[in-house]
Amino acid sequence: MVQSHLLQNLCGYIDGQWVGAAASKTFEVCNPATGDLLAVLPNLGAPDTRAAVVAADRAWRDFPSLETREGWLMAIHDALLREKQELARIITLEQGKPLKESLVEVDYSAGFFKFFASQIHNLAPSPLGEKIRGASWTVHHRPAGAVGLITPWNFPLAMLAKKFPAALAAGCGIVTKPADLTPLTTIALWHILDGLKLPPGVANLVIGDAAPIGDVLCTHPAVRLISFTGSTEVGRTLIKTTAPHIKRLSLELGGNAPYIVMDDADLTAAADALMANKFRCAGQTCVCANRILVHAAVADRFASEMARRVSALRVGNGMDASTEIGPLINRAAVEKVARHVEDAMACGAKRVAQASVDASLTGTFYPPTLLDHLAEGSAMQQEETFGPIVAIRRFETEAEAVALANSTIYGLAAYLFTADVSRIERMSRQLSFGHVAVNTGTGPTPEAPFGGMKQSGYGREGGIEGLLEYCEPQTVVVA
Ligand code: ADP
Repeated sequence: MVQSHLLQNLCGYIDGQWVGAAASKTFEVCNPATGDLLAVLPNLGAPDTRAAVVAADRAWRDFPSLETREGWLMAIHDALLREKQELARIITLEQGKPLKESLVEVDYSAGFFKFFASQIHNLAPSPLGEKIRGASWTVHHRPAGAVGLITPWNFPLAMLAKKFPAALAAGCGIVTKPADLTPLTTIALWHILDGLKLPPGVANLVIGDAAPIGDVLCTHPAVRLISFTGSTEVGRTLIKTTAPHIKRLSLELGGNAPYIVMDDADLTAAADALMANKFRCAGQTCVCANRILVHAAVADRFASEMARRVSALRVGNGMDASTEIGPLINRAAVEKVARHVEDAMACGAKRVAQASVDASLTGTFYPPTLLDHLAEGSAMQQEETFGPIVAIRRFETEAEAVALANSTIYGLAAYLFTADVSRIERMSRQLSFGHVAVNTGTGPTPEAPFGGMKQSGYGREGGIEGLLEYCEPQTVVVA
């Protein structure tokens, strides 16, 4: 069982109190690297979620000034950095990623608190300079109200850090539901919040089965907005369930990112960037490259660059300093990756390289694998694999690359490697993705809006846009 000063209360948090510790219905959290049991947690249900919503709804109506909220954001930022090592340890224990990635995740998360603190002045009332129809007009940015924040398991801290500080900056009352595979990091964050003595009801945490908790968030009249990061399928459920209640939704759904390498690209740079992009979190991120599209003229050279790198990857327990690739989140994830690889090979793909997994590893590991000659019709082309697989699909022309890249229901992130400036301008305009990274594999940053086009969702996180998601503009006209 995990021991930590940030996990003294293994339960939910509602209206300023830890709740549910004595609940009879429980669920378990295990370490994917070892299968070891980390914690047994109470399974909170609909009544607790309703109580959390009522508390959040009361709290936002009585919210303090912008300056006070800015102070909270910076206090949380500082506390995250103070507790960086311990938070990173908890992330790695429950999620599996290498500790060095978890440390980066804490820094990245803290950055969102700092960024939204720096933007909060934009929420001050803005009077229109001139009289219109003899009256003075002022635009206020009111809080959206009580909001539900639902997060996935791949970045237990960062996915919440894109939402929570924006909601807090806007003055919303918050109910958070983390993924039941990785709730410990969120509980640890709530220990930090509890120590900072935010007013009761401002930040509530419910843990347990997704369906009853999600149902209350979707149907309770006090919840004005739900921000969700997760699968497109659950996103659709949220759209359907909230439709009769006309709630605002901010949805960051599936990815299936293309990674295009043109014939004029710097292949070494493209291969290095692909390693960092693709294998972060063992390939379980919605921004990581899923479809590797390489110009036929350079595909052999690119494949051999990648083969060297992939076969050298060190797979292991994320707590070991030498580990570069941790386990997948669970058995189902391993089975999905294995199914995608088998399907690709049945369609004609060839396995070019594979890293080794030590037989002593008992967790849910899958060896990083490089495939080449991926064919049309492979499952990997249409679905996110969410695993450590690089599968190269060859193309002949720029137009074909763009058509292949866009031939998906998703539109979250795309990557392009080319030395031609006019091509950068032309292709980035044609790519239907919310994030287009050129000659870099970098993902989102707190300062810029990030979100999907098409069925990757709507709404943005980060940037001033990510703050305004949680606000209701209200125009007050005084005659
Ligand atoms: P993933 O495929 O990444 O596991 P999911 O969409 O299944 O993504 O889960 C993302 C988050 O959504 C998790 O917190 C999960 O518990 C939650 N979730 C799953 N089903 C529902 C639902 N019906 N209503 C609300 N939240 C849900």
